[in-house]
Amino acid sequence: MQTYAYGLPRLGSDREYKKVIEDLWKGKTTDENVAKVLACIQENNLKTYDHSVNVFPEGEMSFYDPMLDTAILCGIYDPHNLAEYYELCRGSDALEMTKWFNTNYHYLVTDFSRIKNPVFRANIQNMALQFKQCQFPQLIGPFTFLKLSKGIAKNDFHDLFIALVKIYKEIISNYTKVQIDEPAFVLDLEQQEIELIKEGYRLLDGSDCEIALMTYYDSVDFMDSLLTLPVTAIGLDLVRGQASYQYILDKGFPSDKTLIAGLVDGRNIWKNDISDTVAKLKSLSGKAAKLMLSNAAPLYHLPVSVAVENKLPNILKECLSFAAEKLTEIHLVSACFMGVQNVPNKCHLGSFGRDEIVRERTGSLREEDFIKTVPLAERRKKHNALLNLPLFPTTTIGSYPQTAEVRNKRAAFRSGKLSSAQYNKYIQGEIDKLIKFQEDLGLDVLVHGEFERTDMVEFFAQKLAGIATTQNGWIISYGTRAYRPPIIFGDISRPNPMTLSEIKYAQAQTRKPVKGMLTGAVTIIAWSYCREDIPVSDVAYQISLALKDEILDYEKEGIRIVQVDEAAFREKAPLKKSHWEDYFKWAVRSFNLATNTDPDTQIHTHMCYSEFGEIINYINQMDYDVISIEAARSKGDIIKHFENIAFKRQIGLGIWDIHSSCVPSVANMLDIVRRSLQKIPKENFWLNPDCGLKTREWPETEQSLKNLLETARQLRNKS
Ligand code: GLN
Ligand code: ZN
Repeated sequence: MQTYAYGLPRLGSDREYKKVIEDLWKGKTTDENVAKVLACIQENNLKTYDHSVNVFPEGEMSFYDPMLDTAILCGIYDPHNLAEYYELCRGSDALEMTKWFNTNYHYLVTDFSRIKNPVFRANIQNMALQFKQCQFPQLIGPFTFLKLSKGIAKNDFHDLFIALVKIYKEIISNYTKVQIDEPAFVLDLEQQEIELIKEGYRLLDGSDCEIALMTYYDSVDFMDSLLTLPVTAIGLDLVRGQASYQYILDKGFPSDKTLIAGLVDGRNIWKNDISDTVAKLKSLSGKAAKLMLSNAAPLYHLPVSVAVENKLPNILKECLSFAAEKLTEIHLVSACFMGVQNVPNKCHLGSFGRDEIVRERTGSLREEDFIKTVPLAERRKKHNALLNLPLFPTTTIGSYPQTAEVRNKRAAFRSGKLSSAQYNKYIQGEIDKLIKFQEDLGLDVLVHGEFERTDMVEFFAQKLAGIATTQNGWIISYGTRAYRPPIIFGDISRPNPMTLSEIKYAQAQTRKPVKGMLTGAVTIIAWSYCREDIPVSDVAYQISLALKDEILDYEKEGIRIVQVDEAAFREKAPLKKSHWEDYFKWAVRSFNLATNTDPDTQIHTHMCYSEFGEIINYINQMDYDVISIEAARSKGDIIKHFENIAFKRQIGLGIWDIHSSCVPSVANMLDIVRRSLQKIPKENFWLNPDCGLKTREWPETEQSLKNLLETARQLRNKS
């Protein structure tokens, strides 16, 4: 049994990638050194592959993002040095960033509307592509690249794609072997697109280059056509793509091609069930004459190695497999398949993490737990009386600038240099300053600033039982930005209040309402690795019950407004629409369960940059009072989706794009509000930035908020 693997993380075992690139940005190192360190990471990765598997691509390294590299590869951009390259990534006119499929990786989006007369040319000598100068490079495929780009008119897609494929043909003629990744093949595609894929790929026929075509993240719906494409090997994700697996069992696999069977999960960190995988391989071997075993999705969704984690409970660590360990598993499965090694026992946690009380509580949930007894309009009256807010109430999304000082104090606390009393005192001091800052500005609903939080998911993971956090389990979220997804391994409960002391403290400093601030269950799950032994809906309800207890505690302390962030609500949706109903059902219910508390409490939610159009009905099934959303980038266009469904809830208009350091003018903000006012009555609008201010600096924060308050003042005067 031959083995194949791809997609090892480019971060390096000690985050060398991040460090060296960020040093370059600070002027502390040279281009040559960056290239050297990245080459070294790549070299190590190749050794890691070579140790366990037979076949693997080489040129997977990127200076920042493989989608940008693809745009460079086909001549859309042509940076001449790293400074020019990073200008495209993070300069003043940088490419937009968006989520890569349903993962939390963000890629740089090529916007064709900003490119006059796009012409492709093979730009393979570009310095950014130096890692592709190898025997067996990995490329993102032409369809995926175009499908995930923006600004292409529907009528132009065909010609652009065909032109692009011709460039790919030229590019691959330089190699004897390439891996071409086409994850977009698993999306819901129109028949026209499938025909186009066939037409395009046919053009690659006759090239001397062997092509391994990789699809992943789900099943492919056009298997009949896929299997006729002129490529040497086809990779399928048989973990998330059960339908593709079933297809092969039913209809077989062409004997002239190699099936690269992705049977070792690339998206989750649990050890493989070897005996089950061996059995699947056996079934497949009767159907595919040429068969290889591989990971099911690129391994960069996982941390580098579990070996360095020395604070995880042993029993849990035994069950985990990060990127490096997945390769060992591929090797092991193949050895077991061939009978040269015995199938090891399946790893399981036994009773570790099991909590009967939690199970009983989720098990006894009834329909009424998910439905608020007091309807929206009635709640509105209560809140108006209790909160007495002005027209166009102003607020912020939660976090305020996290300065180096805040981060240093947190590090000092974690390393024991600062006692918990000292640290808490420091945080309280920051809260004091922030409350005064917000009062001086004249904001209506205040926040405590989230100074105690590293990250909106890891913070809660550290407070909840049933979720573990790692020391070194970093994965890239974009560019050099990395985060450590927690691991949901057991039943989840809240041993102690999680955020109460800070919120209560903040509220005690002011007569204005302070918003309690929580991260919702869907987002906690989306940005963690989740257990798979119970339905994900149960996991969500367990988290929601913990959140509900937190809100009940808030209420006892007189907190009248609570925000539950669901930044990943859209992202977590399955790639195929046919699975949406199932997902949104538990996603919506979990939100409603958590927030089903005292009807006097005004419930807010916040969602980040999402395509609301398609999911607006689900968003409206979440029974909150106020939703804050992005509106600055789309200049208020986003409101049309809410208009379409006669939305009755209140909307916090994000009129300041916090991803840019520019201070928005009052005129700018007014313009967005006026456009929105044409669609939805003024009584329903709040004004706020479009996300948390964690990454901003203080001076621009102050000026932007002043402008926001001036906007509110002018709007109120005219009403
Ligand atoms: N409350 C969070 C913050 O302000 C929300 C962050 C987010 O939506 N990504 O930081
Ligand atoms: Zn946000």
